[in-house]
Amino acid sequence: ERAPVVTIDGPSGAGKGTISQLLAQHLGWQLLDSGAIYRVLALAAIHHNVELDNEESITLLAAHLDVKFLTGTDKDPVQVILEGEDVTTDIRTQECSNAASKVAAFPRVREALLRRQRAFKTAPGLIADGRDMGTVVFPNALAKLYLTASAEERAQRRYNQLQDKGFDVNIERLLSEIIERDDRDMNRPVAPLVPAEDALIIDTSGKGIDEVLALALSFINQKL
Ligand code: C5P
Repeated sequence: ERAPVVTIDGPSGAGKGTISQLLAQHLGWQLLDSGAIYRVLALAAIHHNVELDNEESITLLAAHLDVKFLTGTDKDPVQVILEGEDVTTDIRTQECSNAASKVAAFPRVREALLRRQRAFKTAPGLIADGRDMGTVVFPNALAKLYLTASAEERAQRRYNQLQDKGFDVNIERLLSEIIERDDRDMNRPVAPLVPAEDALIIDTSGKGIDEVLALALSFINQKL
């Protein structure tokens, strides 16, 4: 399949999700929220009482994961179905975020999820959102973006986002969990969070969505 891929990597709360959704809408392309796959896997482990530090069992679970991504609503553009159950909201809890970054550190788990992620690449194109989209999953992507922002700003954004979704959150705890999760994502031996060599790095601190979207689109249009 010769569909173009645009990768959007970076730490949590840098604005990847929002920008990816807007780009996919604007271009009429598919959207891969790879973080949701790790979140669903973590939730499946919790549901099936599989220990989060058991690489063997988590890998098995990953290989047989029964997950579907359906077109959702404006609030949640993608509806996530695990084993027939709607888990769109359940996978966004802080418990699930932390569990996701734990299972994501296992090399064999990542390996087991590679093909599933690459299958999202279909015409007319794909926007792939994650941590290793440009470095590991789609190294030949047409355009690679890396979004970042200060930890404080990212915590504030996540706080607003979670509050909008009706979650009861504590900003101090959110900040410390973001720092802990980034540390785990950046320092794992396999597919660590790092900008691809050919990525455009955008610091979104103090920038509005429209400004970031315009920067991303002009970069993509140069490559198309
Ligand atoms: O992007 P999101 O916050 O939903 O991702 C949840 C977790 O999944 C991240 O903290 C990271 O550990 C893991 N992840 C990953 N590789 C990706 C996407 C997410 O390791 N491509």
